[in-house]
Amino acid sequence: MLTAIVGINWGDEGKGRMVDLLSKDYDIVCRYQGGNNAGHTVINERGRFILNLLPSGILREGVVCVMGPGMVIDIKHLAGEMARLREAGIAISPDNLKISDRAVITMPYNVQQDCLEEERLADKKFGSTKRGIAPVYADKYLKKAFRMGELKNLDRLAKRLPDIAAWKNLTIVNAYGAEPVTAEQMLAYFKEYGQPLQDYICDTGLFLNQAHKEGKKIMLEAQLGALRDIDYGIYPYTSSSNNIAAYGPIGAGVPNLKLDKTVGIMKAYSSCVGEGPFTAEYFGEKAEKLRAAGGEYGAATGRPRRVGPFDVVASKYGIRCQGADEIALTKLDILSGHDEIEVCVAYDLNGEILTEFPFTDVLDECKPVFKTLRGWNQDISKCRKKEDLPKEALDYIRFIEDACECKIRYVSVGAERDAYIEL
Ligand code: GDP
Repeated sequence: MLTAIVGINWGDEGKGRMVDLLSKDYDIVCRYQGGNNAGHTVINERGRFILNLLPSGILREGVVCVMGPGMVIDIKHLAGEMARLREAGIAISPDNLKISDRAVITMPYNVQQDCLEEERLADKKFGSTKRGIAPVYADKYLKKAFRMGELKNLDRLAKRLPDIAAWKNLTIVNAYGAEPVTAEQMLAYFKEYGQPLQDYICDTGLFLNQAHKEGKKIMLEAQLGALRDIDYGIYPYTSSSNNIAAYGPIGAGVPNLKLDKTVGIMKAYSSCVGEGPFTAEYFGEKAEKLRAAGGEYGAATGRPRRVGPFDVVASKYGIRCQGADEIALTKLDILSGHDEIEVCVAYDLNGEILTEFPFTDVLDECKPVFKTLRGWNQDISKCRKKEDLPKEALDYIRFIEDACECKIRYVSVGAERDAYIEL
């Protein structure tokens, strides 16, 4: 059984908490793309954790976690993340963590490139998380990157270093005027942070195929949401990898396996971090209230997120890109305490009303068309059954289901593991 858990919107939908919840029924959780540019927040009986690289399943005993070949891994960051979890009493060993030999290593100079480029852009900043993600994926496709499997033989790896250093310095030194990188520095870095990982590195495709044959249940965990997918998102304001479910088996190391199910995580309102078009955006007091209620500050960077009401146009597109079979609607509790709730139902493009998500070029010219629904004033964070929800909250859920032509199976009403309703 192979299930993908993916984001429908711009990321930060609460995938981490849903993976943490749903992983109770799975044997294996695998991250299949991206790096430490996102943060998944999970709150359970063991504490509050922010995971950047490790799959959220690491917090469940008995679950084996896999970091797939589609990922880019900052090995220094990973060392820190593993150390923090161990301090909190979470056991991590090669028995419950397997890292793909084909995953790419994010180098310190990739992080540096990210920072240098943001500095160069000055007031035209792109809003990068400065974790080196775009530069390392660029290196991958230029075929100049290092892969995790190379850490298993540092003598062999050392032979590639002078050439790569000379090539990288063409950019770092000649284009940006920064200090050169050296082969010695790189080798020292691989020894310090790579060597301790040697026993975790393996052919995760082989491991997953074997597990699949044995009837184990495998969950593929995405980072970010459909609108940040490099091909289908709001390019160039996307991440640098494919997060859509269709890429899941490829990024996990099992291109031969078909997904049995895709669960889309969709937030009951909208949030978006960084630059780029965000049609349904709220500003001023309205935005501040929603941001404060939802705690919308980046888990990886602490940046305040842009917020707005639920966007039917973008979400319907996200559901289509993901091929979601069922939806978990998160953070519905944040919308409590209002007589009325707005929903963005269409975009007005210079007088033309769009109900399908347009080519990204015109998004900046689109204005949101809002519809007002009835809100509810009671706190719903203690609701655990559909019958506990006020009629207006149920109507809100049904409205979204109809408008987005999707089936909502779970509704979350709090950050804690058990704060959800299965419809
Ligand atoms: P992810 O990257 O998709 O995992 O999302 P984030 O972790 O960045 O953002 C989700 C945030 O919302 C986290 O702080 C969660 O603890 C919190 N959260 C998740 N689900 C709910 C919910 O149903 N209600 C409330 N109030 N908070 C939630």
